[in-house]
Amino acid sequence: MAKYVYDFTEGNRNLKDLLGGKGANLAEMTNLGLPVPPGFTITTEACRHYLAEGALPEGLDREVEEHLRALEESMGKRLGQADDPLLVSVRSGAKFSMPGMMETVLNIGLNDESVHGLAKQAGGNDRFAWDSYRRLIQMFGKTVLGIDGDLFEDALDALKDGRQDTDLDAGELQRLVESYKGIVRDQTGDDFPADAREQMRMAVMAVFDSWNAPRAILYRRQERIPADLGTAVNICSMVFGNCGGDSGTGVAFTRDPGSGRQGIYGDYLQNAQGEDVVAGIRNTIPLQELERLDKRSYDELLSIMETLENHYRDLCDIEFTIERGKLWMLQTRVGKRTAGAAFRIATQLVDQGLITMDEAVTRVTGDQLARLMFPRFDAGADKRRIAKGMNASPGAAVGKAVFSSERAAELAAQGEDVILVRRETNPDDLSGMIAARGILTSRGGKTSHAAVVARGMGKTCVCGAEELDVDTAGRTFSAPGGVVVNEGDVISIDGTSGEIFLGEVPVVASAVVEYFEGAEPEDDLVKAVDRIMRHADGARRLGVRANADTPEDAARAVRFGAEGIGLCRTEHMFLGDRRQLVEDLVLAAGAEDRQAALDALEPLQKSDFVGIFQAMGDRPVTIRLIDPPLHEFLPDIVGLSVKVATGEATDKDRALLAAVKRLHEQNPMLGLRGVRLGLVIPGLFAMQVRAIAQAAKEVPGARPEIMIPLIAAVQELECVREEAAAILAEAGVGALIGTMVETPRAALTAGQVAEAAEFFSFGTNDLTQMAWGFSRDDVEASFFSRYLELGIFGVSPFETLDREGVGRLVAIATEEGRATRPDLKIGICGEHGGDPDSVHFCHDTGLDYVSCSPFRIPVARLEAGRAALSDTDSDTR
Ligand code: PEP
Ligand code: MG
Repeated sequence: MAKYVYDFTEGNRNLKDLLGGKGANLAEMTNLGLPVPPGFTITTEACRHYLAEGALPEGLDREVEEHLRALEESMGKRLGQADDPLLVSVRSGAKFSMPGMMETVLNIGLNDESVHGLAKQAGGNDRFAWDSYRRLIQMFGKTVLGIDGDLFEDALDALKDGRQDTDLDAGELQRLVESYKGIVRDQTGDDFPADAREQMRMAVMAVFDSWNAPRAILYRRQERIPADLGTAVNICSMVFGNCGGDSGTGVAFTRDPGSGRQGIYGDYLQNAQGEDVVAGIRNTIPLQELERLDKRSYDELLSIMETLENHYRDLCDIEFTIERGKLWMLQTRVGKRTAGAAFRIATQLVDQGLITMDEAVTRVTGDQLARLMFPRFDAGADKRRIAKGMNASPGAAVGKAVFSSERAAELAAQGEDVILVRRETNPDDLSGMIAARGILTSRGGKTSHAAVVARGMGKTCVCGAEELDVDTAGRTFSAPGGVVVNEGDVISIDGTSGEIFLGEVPVVASAVVEYFEGAEPEDDLVKAVDRIMRHADGARRLGVRANADTPEDAARAVRFGAEGIGLCRTEHMFLGDRRQLVEDLVLAAGAEDRQAALDALEPLQKSDFVGIFQAMGDRPVTIRLIDPPLHEFLPDIVGLSVKVATGEATDKDRALLAAVKRLHEQNPMLGLRGVRLGLVIPGLFAMQVRAIAQAAKEVPGARPEIMIPLIAAVQELECVREEAAAILAEAGVGALIGTMVETPRAALTAGQVAEAAEFFSFGTNDLTQMAWGFSRDDVEASFFSRYLELGIFGVSPFETLDREGVGRLVAIATEEGRATRPDLKIGICGEHGGDPDSVHFCHDTGLDYVSCSPFRIPVARLEAGRAALSDTDSDTR
């Protein structure tokens, strides 16, 4: 019989799959002897069952009842008991943190009777009891009953009439409860449920349902969290931060999640419950001020933070509540951090002796490294600073100010860069945050929704810029000195310093990029990156090469750590002023004309290769013979047709039009390209091979490798190979001859293909196109968003290698190719070569190297190191 409920004393932090992150960590803290209010967790398995079957699993009610009984016993009070009620919170908690995306209901167990019991137990604190009750109806109404939250907010605002919520007295709050109950009745036709068990049961189902709320789906897609995990539900006895001045609630980090520096970072809100901090109801105070308010709790908190850091050996973030001078821990987890903080913290923890360098490498990700390679504002540029807020998530963002998520998404879809400006954000702003280049808020601290979500996305964010007066309805904000910014005006925000500038500030490369370009590591962040990169390089088994086809790109690739070129595409070399020669080749009337065109191209090709060989020294350079369809090199059919129709055409134009028509294909990607072209146009590949051989002779140490594109059958390869081998032999140049594996047939017959190939390189762009039958140039714009929405895949297979399908072809070809030729060298050169998850796949599948664009090389090096160090763990998030 499945077990669906675990007491906090039964779990531990390794059970995140089952108990969710929050439940697993509450259990861990409980077992560490930290002050956690007792409770239990309903598993993700129960959620998955509920979502699949539309009903709670059999036996769950009984199990919950048993755990509730035990909880009641340990607390000495019962849920729903009129004179001394046990209250519980019902909180979501998935395996991966999804801040603010799913539901939570506090104060479950209150009704018209037990509210009096609660007041009595709180020493006659009526205000506190009624405040708790109105919070229950408000949260329950919104999240469980689906009532528009503004209705409650409006009623509260009307009552406050400009005062703080803490200024409301018991009588006023009691009246508020009545009006809230009226809202519930009006909106649902039913009374607010008075039965405490019914409240709890409904809240549990609402949390399960919230897994599939649109914003949660969107967040998961953005963060690449699998859609089928489900959430756990934590039922925890309530402790109260809203009991008066000696109570409160807060969030804290054991280090600064923005910079990684050690210290005390957090926000505290007196006389409040947890949701108030996130919602920004009142402005929080810095955690340090708690020392003055309640030294004992403050000291205890610091000591717990130290315990947690040492135990988790990482930055932790925590939520806590103080109830009348008693500290309670409500949550902890290994905290999200900026990319820069991740590198700094990893190396700091090594220096503190808490983790090894191996672990440090696994603590950072390629995505984080990529973020550090983003540009920043030019320090020397003229800037007009209009305000400063908190540096919530680093980077430099420039764009038009917009004041709503809808507008942000709309303008971004038109290709505009926008900055989303809000007083504060809430989960409904997610689509706008995704669309925007950066996020600016006038309220909320580093733990506000905007800050947490932006950091998670790696998006530039400045929050809590209180000098700004944001009028979202009027689509404008004002800053000190009479500055007014209206929708559409360009602003620049610096997430590293928190500064806000009017107009466009020029951006420059990052210090990390300069380091990769060869600058000495100076600041502590770059030093941390340097240490980690060196260690990753020492650990990785995969080689890292570059996709580069100019000497400049090749040189940069070497500076960035490339060990060779894995793909030098030759087609761009046929463009520009060589177009004429290609036209001559295509239009050649006979063998002689064709040879003349090829002869003219050959020295130009040779000089291309000389430049690249020089840049690469003695590193291998895989040159791929020309691939795309010939018509791509010819003028546009429409322009030529118009010329012919209007009588402006020359004889050459007419000949060109005929050639364009002759070469026109319905499916050019499946047509006359790659090896097919080489077999159809005599002398074309031979010219390229000769140019390679001659260039190699000219550059001492050059190591060319010749790669044939798009083969589907070994026979194609054999034809080309024979001719190429003869040319190389004649020139006295040694070069490996290999092939792209980018058609499914080549992959499935790899055992035969390897007879004629000394190396394979997986062209996973074409392989994905042909395995899925997706036109690589069209589908991402046309229907991928729908596919992502439907969860057909979580991420585009052109971005992250589809392990199940395309990956299987790669694995089969690797195994069968090596069975034929054990020393077969195998790499990948599709876009996936620089994608973190795909790099892990290549490691796991036993490839020899990945090849990617020069800017992705550091990412690939790091991920290859992480793959080698993290055995079974291929989680790259
Ligand atoms: C590929 O298909 O993955 C590849 C690298 O070749 P191209 O993108 O040039 O078709
Ligand atoms: Mg290809």
